[in-house]
Amino acid sequence: MIPPIARRFVAGESAPEAIEHARARNEDGVAVILNLLGEHYDDPADARADTDAYLALLTDIADSGLDASISVKPSQIGLDVSDECFEGHYREIVARAHELDAFVWCDMEDADTTDATLDAFESIAEEYPWSVGQCIQSNLKRTREDLDRLSDVPGKIRLVKGAYDEPEAIAHKEQSRVDEAYREDLRFLFERRDRGIAVGSHDPAMISLADRLAREHGADYEVQMLMGVREDAQRDLAAQGVDVAQYAPYGTKWLSYFYRRVRERRQNLGFAVRAVLGR
Ligand code: FAD
Repeated sequence: MIPPIARRFVAGESAPEAIEHARARNEDGVAVILNLLGEHYDDPADARADTDAYLALLTDIADSGLDASISVKPSQIGLDVSDECFEGHYREIVARAHELDAFVWCDMEDADTTDATLDAFESIAEEYPWSVGQCIQSNLKRTREDLDRLSDVPGKIRLVKGAYDEPEAIAHKEQSRVDEAYREDLRFLFERRDRGIAVGSHDPAMISLADRLAREHGADYEVQMLMGVREDAQRDLAAQGVDVAQYAPYGTKWLSYFYRRVRERRQNLGFAVRAVLGR
């Protein structure tokens, strides 16, 4: 069972719990993106098992009528086995989503996986237009070129700052430089697209910039934040009419995800210590 301290960041261990979490968030006007926790499988059977779990989850979402989508990780559905294994599973998941009028996001992992992930996204989005979205990281120096290449691809883009510690040769390292790259990438996205832009950030400065750019360009966008982070802002933005989606992980492999969230932010650490001390 997930202890209450981790429940802030994780929607439960099972798909029914994740669906109940989505129902509760929908009541606040917030959509949900469900991610089954798991990554770096080198056994094809594990990649197959999580692919099957996502196929079943898509049916559960469609049956529930909830405003919910899914987000998969490349190494969870086969990228550490082979590019073909990943792309085959990814295509199967998006094909099912397309059939059910559902939506699939794909997370971006470390920079060694960027080419294979973007190649798969591009080809699958062409085959199933507007059924799939890809995360892109502004800390990578290559990102402007990638956004350029993806300009006409009929899939959504979730822009994030980037969570992986990459070498200086390929990535901006200073926070201020990453922030500047994020601003530039947002401007570029709004110049090139009038739909399918997702701001994957808790940063109030980036969210206001997106709002300004959307008005300027008459474009649609959505804000995406993690479960357990600035949930009050998620509700407030939704109440103001902004499309907001909460990325909510679930599953039995919650421990390492929970530690990552706590390490990331002192504020969360304070929360964790208070919870342990029962204050
Ligand atoms: P930061 O640059 O960390 O912080 C900027 C400001 O945001 C802070 O000053 C504060 O005002 C506010 N803020 C940030 N965190 C908190 C907090 N905990 N509590 C209160 N205020 C806060 N990364 C990947 O590499 N690949 C992915 O596929 C990926 N998917 C993501 C999906 C979603 C929906 C989100 C939200 C993030 C994802 N990330 C992913 C992580 C992302 O790359 C960043 O590491 C992470 O979001 C931190 O950057 P930030 O823009 O939110 O804010």
